[in-house]
Amino acid sequence: MRIEVINTGSELLLGSTLNTHGAWLGQQLMNLGLRVQRLTVVPDGDAIRDALDESLKTSDAVIVTGGLGPTSDDVTREAVAEVLGVELIEDEHALRCVVGFFDRLGKDMTPSNMKQALNPVGADVLPNPHGSAPGVYVPPRLGSSSCAIFLLPGPPHEMHAMYDAEVAPRLKALTDVPEGDGVKMLKFSGVGESRFQDELDTALHGIGGLEVGYCARPGELDLRLIGSEEKRERGGAMAVDAYPEAFINADGRSLEQTVVEALEFGGLTLASAESCTGGMIASRITDVSGSSKVFTHGYVTYADDAKVVMLGVAEDSLGRYGAVSEEVAREMARGALERSGVDIAVSVTGVAGPGGGSADKPVGLVWLGMSVREDGEVKTFAEKRFYPNGRVLFKQLVSQAVLMKVLRYTRERACK
Ligand code: ATP
Repeated sequence: MRIEVINTGSELLLGSTLNTHGAWLGQQLMNLGLRVQRLTVVPDGDAIRDALDESLKTSDAVIVTGGLGPTSDDVTREAVAEVLGVELIEDEHALRCVVGFFDRLGKDMTPSNMKQALNPVGADVLPNPHGSAPGVYVPPRLGSSSCAIFLLPGPPHEMHAMYDAEVAPRLKALTDVPEGDGVKMLKFSGVGESRFQDELDTALHGIGGLEVGYCARPGELDLRLIGSEEKRERGGAMAVDAYPEAFINADGRSLEQTVVEALEFGGLTLASAESCTGGMIASRITDVSGSSKVFTHGYVTYADDAKVVMLGVAEDSLGRYGAVSEEVAREMARGALERSGVDIAVSVTGVAGPGGGSADKPVGLVWLGMSVREDGEVKTFAEKRFYPNGRVLFKQLVSQAVLMKVLRYTRERACK
């Protein structure tokens, strides 16, 4: 099925609103085994009609977002009626939806909202429980078109709910996607695209009928497998077997969420002692709802004094080895473990830059420490990494590396 998406709104082209609808719809359609053939972004006004006119010639379904409001720049309904050559009339069902929305809010409807009760003749009304603008569904073969058309409201929460309730079921009914064909997305960290390409790509393509794709982002790589369930599972297992240490999950959850769930599963608690990441590790972990069950303390010890007072790092170690050193990373982790009483404490101390680097401690150098309690015994280790990527990316990559270390350790411990 050839599907096109048209996102309308001058603000999308002026750059004041990020077009999240395009990405969101792409993902949702992929979940149905469908692909967006073309995504068009147009300003309010005649451009909507022109884009529709063009899309109808080459598509089986077009999804248009935005422009269903009561103002003069909301002209999507008018554009569809014009392109199809059908009349736009006041629709009883649409009017009930608009009136009902204002009734529920206990507010008066304004005359301009009457415009939202207009519908192309023969089109269905899509109820909008979250907003005043009903959506529109034009079934195939209405007017001059053989294409199905969906008009959805602009506000994201309205658009998402309407897509789930009204669009997805209709698209499923219209398509002939083989049952079970779908997408599997596996997340990895610490293994790059080129290694996948060199070491695994040929084998993955050896699974006939499996489509393989990659998407790299800072510190993470998505492996996309499209095909039957059996082929997706086979490809996924191959990738996990090849890089078990780098595997995060196969269900789209964030790394931090995966870490929190792994800790909870293992009955383990975590604390962080951060210098150069300034609390980013704690922040990412606490982005996860329910993380208080596993995360107890986040120490941000940016200055040397703070490392001494809050974590018990020895002044002698700071003087002798410097704050960015294996010794201090180990003492930070061990201090956090002892003071918080957790099972796992992680630490980071590094040179984020752009200033502060030296020949033996260049910008990008970071020490990652970890201290763990195992059967009443404390074990502490540290390793050196190098991320000369600029301050913002450095913090992101360091926090990613630490969360991966926690995930790996927690999984290994669960297997013991
Ligand atoms: P209404 O006029 O009732 O708000 P509408 O259907 O006319 O709804 P728009 O006016 O086009 O929709 O958009 C309403 C709001 O929805 C915008 O201010 C913007 O915040 C958000 N929005 C619209 N399109 C997008 C998009 N493609 N991506 C992200 N947000 C969007």
